[in-house]
Amino acid sequence: MRKPIIAGNWKMFKTVSEAVAFVSDVKGKAEIDGVESVICAPFTNLPALVEAVKGTSIKIGAQNLHWEDSGAYTGEISGAMLKDLGVTHVIIGHSERRQYFAETDETVNKKVHAALKHGLVPIVCVGEKLEEREAGETKNVCKVQTEAAFAGLSAEQAAGVVIAYEPIWAIGTGKSSTAEDANEVIAYIRSVVAGLYGQSTADAVRIQYGGSVKPNNVREYLQQSDIDGALVGGASLDPASYIQLVEGA
Ligand code: PEP
Repeated sequence: MRKPIIAGNWKMFKTVSEAVAFVSDVKGKAEIDGVESVICAPFTNLPALVEAVKGTSIKIGAQNLHWEDSGAYTGEISGAMLKDLGVTHVIIGHSERRQYFAETDETVNKKVHAALKHGLVPIVCVGEKLEEREAGETKNVCKVQTEAAFAGLSAEQAAGVVIAYEPIWAIGTGKSSTAEDANEVIAYIRSVVAGLYGQSTADAVRIQYGGSVKPNNVREYLQQSDIDGALVGGASLDPASYIQLVEGA
């Protein structure tokens, strides 16, 4: 059985005091047995958040990392630094990073290796642009991105990766993929993992849907056979809404 995982992606929102206030609002509520609840916050919030969630089952994730442990990389943060803070998860290859910060399949792969090396759970984002969807390229794009992200991983490492299928046209737009469509693509991504590592590894890998998930539609997605959770941007910022997302899972 795959444990559902709800991950909030706060993007570049919330100061430290806002982040800590959020945790005090969701403590004891966004904590449901059998659901993994993760808040992926800006770097500046991470130490305070790790402290604030102590004694709860809520986990804290980052939204990026560098693939080297240390070095002359001004402005970057390494997996070693995140691990040292008590962070447990890290989003890798979000479409906003691929689009605005020149992240490539190759750097995504290096970051996945770095995260696993430091015992962080990588949440690897894949997904097609609108024009790729319209050209019938959705599955191919997801296959290429998934295979690239997993390059060089052992089956054991692969089983610990979380994939977030996020059609780019659905992120922050209010347009979401239907649950059935998302499930079809996610089942296909699972078959790509099976092609690389065999069915038992593919059955262990958790694959989330992301793209305008809200409290009122989260259940539809989570009821699908292959959807193991959601990566949520906008709707994860409000405490009441985040609680409902975790409850919905
Ligand atoms: C995201 O940022 O990964 C995302 C899915 O955003 P939203 O839920 O706002 O569409």
